[in-house]
Amino acid sequence: MSEPPGHACGVFGVYAPGQSVAHLAYLGLFALQHRGQESAGIAVSDGETITVVKDMGLVTQVFDERRLAPLQGHLAIGHNRYSTTGSSSWRNAQPVYRSVGDAGFALGHNGNLTNVLELSDALGMLPGMLEPELGLDSTTDSALVAELIAHEYPPEPRSDGRDLELALERVLPRLRGGFSFVLLDDARLIGVRDEHGFWPLVLGRIEAGWVLASESAALDIVGAHYVRDVEPGEMVVIDASGIRSHHYAPPTPKLCLFEFVYFSRPDTNLYGKSVHLARQRMGEELARQAPVAADMVMPIPESGIPAAQGFARASGIPYGDGLVKNRYVGRTFIEPTHQLRGAGVRLKLNPLPENIRGKRLIVVDDSIVRGTTTRQVVAMLREAGAAEVHFRVSSPPYRWPCFYGMDTGRRSELLAADLSVGEIRDYLGVDSLAYLDLDRLVAATGADGEAFCTACLTGDYLVPVPEADTKLALESPPEPIAELDGFAPTSAET
Ligand code: 5GP
Ligand code: MG
Repeated sequence: MSEPPGHACGVFGVYAPGQSVAHLAYLGLFALQHRGQESAGIAVSDGETITVVKDMGLVTQVFDERRLAPLQGHLAIGHNRYSTTGSSSWRNAQPVYRSVGDAGFALGHNGNLTNVLELSDALGMLPGMLEPELGLDSTTDSALVAELIAHEYPPEPRSDGRDLELALERVLPRLRGGFSFVLLDDARLIGVRDEHGFWPLVLGRIEAGWVLASESAALDIVGAHYVRDVEPGEMVVIDASGIRSHHYAPPTPKLCLFEFVYFSRPDTNLYGKSVHLARQRMGEELARQAPVAADMVMPIPESGIPAAQGFARASGIPYGDGLVKNRYVGRTFIEPTHQLRGAGVRLKLNPLPENIRGKRLIVVDDSIVRGTTTRQVVAMLREAGAAEVHFRVSSPPYRWPCFYGMDTGRRSELLAADLSVGEIRDYLGVDSLAYLDLDRLVAATGADGEAFCTACLTGDYLVPVPEADTKLALESPPEPIAELDGFAPTSAET
């Protein structure tokens, strides 16, 4: 079986009669662009017809006034899909639309299910039947959910119109793994989180209605105010009669810790805590845990910036810039041709030799996944004249693949999977290397009373994962995915 590429995506939903919901969804998706750059899509309902527009590319590439104008209605959902190491095609784009008799619904999914085989068995179909070309991939898992829901629609449309809701109540308890869903039918907006709440989903209020979004930062940007998190195991339904909630499973929260480390925007709050401040505290903790004499603390932009600020503050060593990041590098960046490969990571990050030469540097980043970017950055800093390079990472070694939706590849691709910290230090060519301890990281979130999923750092998979999965193998798969130096699919966003 081919493993699901997984997708930590961005989802958005809005119910706001009288407002231009498509434009609000567009703004929401734009605010969530960092969660997925491969494709973007919006589904709108005007009470009778559901219209979906989706395509490959960034939100601003997929949508313009011409494509937004026909999306008239009073409720909408939107989805940004994360780039994957697998095939990227239009079929992977979401929202997924499914018609059921004269009705229909649309679904946007952030996350990854772990019991796809079981679910498709129950439907009496091979997973491959859904998307024959793609086999068992993440498109299929979202399409499969849509299929399961359609199967559970009441045989006759209900007079109260709550068909989708009732179908969901039957399907949700059967799903395992990670999912934050936004759905709509002709008249209702629905938000759902898995019982562990692996992926965030928040509820916000705007004057004319309600908003759902992967991150609280997206609420700010559409002018909504934060009301509360959708709870793990909860389904919220918003329609003309207001908002109602249903718990289909008791909540056992296990938010992805990596949302705090890397994935979420710094201006988002998770578990009520500012992600930016948490990242600064991670840097402070790192300075206390692994101090070293140096002349300058510098981040690997952008993700390493808050932790480097915290490190500098706690160590008293001046903060400075050693690298300039090209702001326009994203997943849709055209990979360089063979002749240009030498440019490698420089296209993303270029050093400031005048600020580096002769200095003992403490270089801070949030994480090392494959190590491809990090290794090249270290070589560039040395070339630019750094006297010493002490690398500090504001999270523990990333050792285990995620099965619940974070797309960080197979175990064989993870640098720390079977190397010791000393071996990683040598591989990266740094003078010293330290990773933040897990307990310090959790304390730094400020939400240490809360529970987190730490599977990528500890291998503790609290929802069982298929042990035979090739993703867990330490050997490379027989047909490795083509990768250009410095353009590893998992490290395009620094
Ligand atoms: P590496 O040296 O592993 O190639 O790249 C390290 C960089 O990857 C870090 O700056 C980190 O912020 C970034 N990173 C961490 N997790 C992810 C992820 O899930 N996706 C992407 N695109 N980048 C990531
Ligand atoms: Mg980074």
